[in-house]
Formats: sequence, structure tokens, C-alpha cells
Amino acid sequence: MDSGRMEVITHAHTVVIKVGTNVLTDPSGHLDRQRIQSLTGQLHRARIAGRNVVLVTSGAIGAGVGKLGLGRRPSDLPHLQACAAVGQSALIQLYQEGLAPYGVHTAQILLTASDFDNRARYLNVRNTILTLFEYQALPIINENDTVSVAEIKFGDNDHLAAMVTNLLRAPLLVLLTDVDGLYSDDPRKVPEAKLLSTVHNIDESITRMAGSSRSLLGTGGMRSKLRAARLATAAGESVIMANGALDGILDRVFSGEPVGTLFLPHGQDVPSWKRWVGYTARPLGKVVVDAGARRAVVEQGRSLLPVGVQVVEGDFRKGDVVSVCDETGQEIARGMSNYSSTEADRIRGQSSEQILASLGTVAYPELIHRDNLVVIGTA
Ligand code: GLU
Repeated sequence: MDSGRMEVITHAHTVVIKVGTNVLTDPSGHLDRQRIQSLTGQLHRARIAGRNVVLVTSGAIGAGVGKLGLGRRPSDLPHLQACAAVGQSALIQLYQEGLAPYGVHTAQILLTASDFDNRARYLNVRNTILTLFEYQALPIINENDTVSVAEIKFGDNDHLAAMVTNLLRAPLLVLLTDVDGLYSDDPRKVPEAKLLSTVHNIDESITRMAGSSRSLLGTGGMRSKLRAARLATAAGESVIMANGALDGILDRVFSGEPVGTLFLPHGQDVPSWKRWVGYTARPLGKVVVDAGARRAVVEQGRSLLPVGVQVVEGDFRKGDVVSVCDETGQEIARGMSNYSSTEADRIRGQSSEQILASLGTVAYPELIHRDNLVVIGTA
């Protein structure tokens, strides 16, 4: 048995399990009652083994497509939203039916990306989930598709699941999908493609393996799974991607069987506050910095000073999260700005002495203080 994997499983006191649309519905969108029944039994077993379990489920839109007899997924937002509203209730009902015999309450939580941008709401989500653990209820999360418009969408539930993992500091995220894990090549096209059992770092060579797969009823694909895995592993958590169509897959994952692909944490455990700044809140603006500032921030662990800033973009206020990019446009960090975009634009490229001379005061020597700054790994 793989000792690294066993260690991950043993320490997974809290687990986020994401199930994709293709695992839950057939291609015409009918919910697979038996599969859901089997999953609920496995979720229950994970819980009685002493884990806090959160389910992130897709399938609302897919189920709506099936219930409404549409045959295929619509392409415009109002129809997608209507499908989600029809499908979500059917979906949650099946989970409820599956869990009721075990005496487990299901708790539906529908979230939009803006719930994660706002720190107070973000913390409220966490408190609610922790309270549900206290009640031994099973939180079942999906995106609130009926109100999410393009600008406030998570994009896909893989991303949402990674954000929930980071929010809870859950040591393990399990992504159940319709493939066995990450292959060295597209197994449908390259028969000798190999399943990767463990990935230590999701670098460019790994993302290249993902191709550009997309599913018919859901929104994800291998790329979105890797992006999600990167978000969680960068914050210090592990991810297992496995085939949700395999019998007893969750039981097998939790017994430490080497199924699917395990993505190990990359870098150190990131504190809660920095997870929100670096990996959760969407930046409201961008600053482009010169090579000296890049070095100071990335290599020397220093704050970002106005003198190193060349360009200020976007409309942000003091305290908002902004993206820090180098001269090539590569994002290198995110942080909370001490100045609004208007002020930042006025003082960019200036030393503290120059700011003092032109403004008569220097409210903060740093544009982004080190304590409020997170360096982002590149891949
Ligand atoms: N929220 C969507 C649904 O429940 C799924 C998004 C996704 O496929 O990632 O249908």
C-alpha cells in the first residue's frame, strides 16, 4: 500500500467530495437513482468513520434537461437557469431519500462566487458549515445557478469545490468524475496512455496532459479539474481524482486503495486569511510591477512599494484585493491594497520621499504590506 496516500487518508478529518454531472446523470440527463443511492451509503460510511463530509454536487442543470425532456443542454443563460431550478430540487430529493434511512439530515447550500468575494459572507458560509457538522447534518453544496450571471459565476463546480476545501481547510478534496484519473495522454486517442497514480506538483508538463476535454451536460473537463486541484494543493491540501462510476469508489478511496490520481500538497499550509486573499476573492484591479519589485516580492519576501509599480488598472478601493503582475503580464501575487486605484495611480513609481513631497503625507509606505500579500505559484 502507498504510505503517502494512506497518510493523506488518515489525516483527512474533513473531506470535500465533488460529484460531476456525468457521474449522476445519463447522457439524456436522467438522474441515476441507483448511483446516487450507492453514493449516499458511501458518504454515510465516510461520516461514521469520524470524518466531516461536505458534498459538492453538480447535476442540477443536467437533471433539469432530463426532467423537461429537452434532449440536450440549452446554450443561453435563462434556459440554463430554468433547468437548474427544476433539476436542483430533484437532485436534492434523491440525496435526501438516500440518506434518510441512516437518519442523516441533508442541508442544501447554494452559493454564488460573490459570496466568496465578500469576506464577511465567506466567513458566514464557513460558520454555517461548521454548525452543520455539529448537528451531524450533511452539507450539500451547489452553485446557485438560478441567480448567478456570467460575471459572478464560479465557472464550474470543480472550482467551487476547491474554494470550499480552502474555506474549511479540509485536508482532502475528492473529485469524482467519469474518467479514472489523470492520464499521461488522452486515453481515447492514445491507447498506451498511462494513469498517473501520484502527482507531486501540477506544473506545465502536467497541465499539458489535460488536453481540452469538455463534457456534454456539465461544464468541467480535465483542465478545470487540474485548475481546482492546483488551487487546493497550493494552499496545502491533497486532492484525489477518481472515477465516480466505479462501484464503491468512495469506500475504496477511504480504504487507501490506489485508485485514481492523488495530487499532493505543493508548498506549505497557507493560513486561512491568506487563502482568501490569494486564492479565493476575485481581484478588483491589477498593478504591473518592475523587475526590482518582482524580485523583492517573489524572492525576498518583501512588501510591494509604490516605487516599483508601473501601471495601475481597474477600479478598486483601499482594502480590496488586487492582482500583482510582472512586466510580461504573468500574475505573481495577490494582495490587499493600502490605497485606492486613484491614489495608487497618483503615487506609482514614487519613493516615500517623493510621495511626501507631492502629497504632504505618506499614509502607508507600502502599496501592499507583506502580511496582506500572497505570492502565487506559476504553472
Ligand atoms: N452547477 C451546475 C449544475 O448543478 C454544474 C456546474 C458544473 O458542471 O461544474 O448543473
